[in-house]
Amino acid sequence: MTPITSFAGKTVAVFGLGGSGLASCQALQAGGADVVASDDNIDRLVEAARAGFITADLHSVTWSNIAALVLTPGVPLTHPVPHWTVLAAQAASVEVIGDVELFCRERRHLAPDAPFVAITGTNGKSTTTALIAHLLREAGFDTQMGGNIGTAILSLQPPAAGRVHVIEMSSYQIDLTPSLDPAVGILLNVTEDHLDRHGSIEHYAAVKERLVAGVQDGGTAIVGVDDDFSATAAERVALAGKTVLRLSVKRPLANGIVVENNAIYRVNDGEHEAIARIDGIGSLRGAHNAQNAAAAAAAVLALGVEREALQRGLRSFPGLAHRMEQVGRQGETLFVNDSKATNADAAAKALSSYEEIFWIAGGKPKTGGIDSLAGFFPKIRKAYLIGVAAEEFAATLDGKVEYEICETLEVAVPHAARDATASELVEPVVLLSPACASFDQFRNFEIRGDRFRELVAALPGVKPVK
Ligand code: ADP
Repeated sequence: MTPITSFAGKTVAVFGLGGSGLASCQALQAGGADVVASDDNIDRLVEAARAGFITADLHSVTWSNIAALVLTPGVPLTHPVPHWTVLAAQAASVEVIGDVELFCRERRHLAPDAPFVAITGTNGKSTTTALIAHLLREAGFDTQMGGNIGTAILSLQPPAAGRVHVIEMSSYQIDLTPSLDPAVGILLNVTEDHLDRHGSIEHYAAVKERLVAGVQDGGTAIVGVDDDFSATAAERVALAGKTVLRLSVKRPLANGIVVENNAIYRVNDGEHEAIARIDGIGSLRGAHNAQNAAAAAAAVLALGVEREALQRGLRSFPGLAHRMEQVGRQGETLFVNDSKATNADAAAKALSSYEEIFWIAGGKPKTGGIDSLAGFFPKIRKAYLIGVAAEEFAATLDGKVEYEICETLEVAVPHAARDATASELVEPVVLLSPACASFDQFRNFEIRGDRFRELVAALPGVKPVK
């Protein structure tokens, strides 16, 4: 845990008592603050009270006695409308901040030179965060990983000289971190998503840009410039005098990081210097993962990891569960769990990453279905359709791709495995990349992916992927 001392002797209200909210309560209390814990969910309040915190309804507190409102990122700060606690705090001129802001203040106080890497982007945040942490650990660095991925930031070990914090940040968390000042800030990409909580793409992009604009003096901003919003952000941040490392997997750059033919290069005035190779790394297939890998490589090199250790770390990266996760092999057939692909855009990433595909798709369909995936149909040997979307997807595939309505994963997995083996292709892939939400048959995409993994493991002769 990271005790927060900046509010010692003061009263802080914490609203939203999920994992990160409770961690904030603990950290503030450990640092000497008086905490008032609150939530509009009674079960959460009871849990906080059981954990020994004073709980209150923030409708009835005297705001002038409160030094700050610490908000959980799930609660709207601005869009669609500010939460009532935000309005109440603002009316009393009480600052509204999040747990990462508490961390940043503590770091400046305790160990301003402790390396702090912050990662954001519309897509690829978790993969890049996990990869950076993996590369650092493999290189022997004392590494703490958390934030939007896994552990709440204040449950991690405190900042200290030589200890690296690798922190994934959503836009909501950035919004709650006014003094965000990472040593290495990474903005991977900005595309339209989550606009319900940000009003407009411009506002959403501006929030994301703050993560790299805030990079501390002497630090590095790494920006993927393959979309217009990020490219503009890179220009602005560079103009403001920060060191910006631009990154592209799509086009040449005169200066920056590029990926060409599965190799990551550092380019200085047009001169290419090879940094690492990513071919043959199953967990990093596809152009999207090339972007993640290049960003991670640039980050760890900036922190002093040696090239050789970087290459070793890339090769041993296990990848994240449910994102093109290689779950087993039966003879030549590879089984891939991409249950996280809950829309067609995400499924496109996986479909573009393999050649001979036995595709398990379906679930609770999204608007537009799989029409946008037509370009991949020639690579799909057969589709195995499950869930509510099965009929709709069958209509889209009809006459173009062979398909079978399986209804459930229990039917789809053995049928796809049987056909893949019988195909005698060189490397057939049975790919669960549903392009659908899971809610018609599963509580969430993780449970869907876990079930797929179990069904694969139950097939005869399946071996783990090395
Ligand atoms: P996030 O944490 O931002 O949601 P993840 O690393 O969990 O991202 O990846 C989620 C999905 O997003 C992946 O399964 C893949 O389909 C897609 N994805 C991953 N990295 C990228 C990227 N750099 N660009 C575009 N899409 C990506």
